Amino acid sequence: MTPVPRLLATVSVVAAVCATAAADAPSVGEPRFRKVFAFTDIGDDEHAAKLAELNVFAANCCDAGNRPDPEKIERAKRFGIVPYVAFGPFCDSHIQALSPEEARLQAELQGRFVPSEAKGDAGDRGRTDLWRTRHYRLGGEPEPGNAEVYVESIGCFVGTNACAKGAAGLVERLKANPEAKAVCLDYIGYANYRGCRHPDCLRLLEAWLEREGLADTEDNRDRFFEEQIVAYYAALYDAVKAYDPSVVVYAHLFPVFLPDPLYGSRLKLDYCAQTCAWYFRWPAEKVRRYAETVVRGQSERWPFAHGVPFVAYGPWANGIDPDFGKTPEDLDRELRAVLESGAEYLAVHEIDSVVADPAVFAVFRKFCASPSREDGR
Ligand SMILES: [Zn+2]
Repeated sequence: MTPVPRLLATVSVVAAVCATAAADAPSVGEPRFRKVFAFTDIGDDEHAAKLAELNVFAANCCDAGNRPDPEKIERAKRFGIVPYVAFGPFCDSHIQALSPEEARLQAELQGRFVPSEAKGDAGDRGRTDLWRTRHYRLGGEPEPGNAEVYVESIGCFVGTNACAKGAAGLVERLKANPEAKAVCLDYIGYANYRGCRHPDCLRLLEAWLEREGLADTEDNRDRFFEEQIVAYYAALYDAVKAYDPSVVVYAHLFPVFLPDPLYGSRLKLDYCAQTCAWYFRWPAEKVRRYAETVVRGQSERWPFAHGVPFVAYGPWANGIDPDFGKTPEDLDRELRAVLESGAEYLAVHEIDSVVADPAVFAVFRKFCASPSREDGR
């Protein structure tokens, strides 16, 4: 399997062959995460068992058309995993618009690698080429001074109409999946990491500046587009809870919002996963500092909200450059740093790549496996 770093993609089942990790079994009293939030399909029995072993909270149990798959639902229940529906920007107005320069860059990136289409060797070569030649960071924080946009187009969620349509679309999806008791949100972010340049959205920006009595500065534009993200999440959250308060709403914030990478504490969510370690190795100090911010800040605005550090792992990032990839030892250090921040919960992608590698799986099992799954909230 070639892992494709698109979180909402239907992930093919991994024929996981994992050595038993009894030697790494958690000992009583060792700090570990209460729950793990992942972005994956429930897979077959073997895969589901591995997810359960890592205390994964929920998994996709829909078919490719977002309809409920009874076999997957039965399997999820059997392994104590909650069926979820995945949801990104629900848009029938427009795709986010880019500046001419940003559009040229995106076209160049797409000419070399389109995640949703790239499979097998050709996908690996295109991906490796992008990282090696452009130091491309795939929606995470770009290297300082490196102009970047996300490789794929993203639907626009700006404005009250988009909020209403998104909320209605999400509730429709839940109604069609009555067994789903979790919602996994992703891709609610800007393809250029700052805002949408569509004329409709620029008109909304102009009206907002006028209403707020603000000058048309870059800072105020950034504020407007951050407000739009906050409003969209709140609209989705309120709609889900009005439909069924027992449905758990979690999200991974992606792609990065450059004016304020850790804006998640403003979001109305049950569990808000913010990137604290990306696919490419970050300094340990940065991982710790981000995790502390994510954990401490989350409940200030919404007391029910939990801040969840997100750790990325993709074996495709290994071998590109010695400075990029993560060994099991690196992951061990990252997970320890996250735990030391006081985090109770962890989010991870690609969980299927974690499950597929016995050495990596053993690291996660040490920090994620719960002696008793019943003790989790
Ligand atoms: Zn727009």
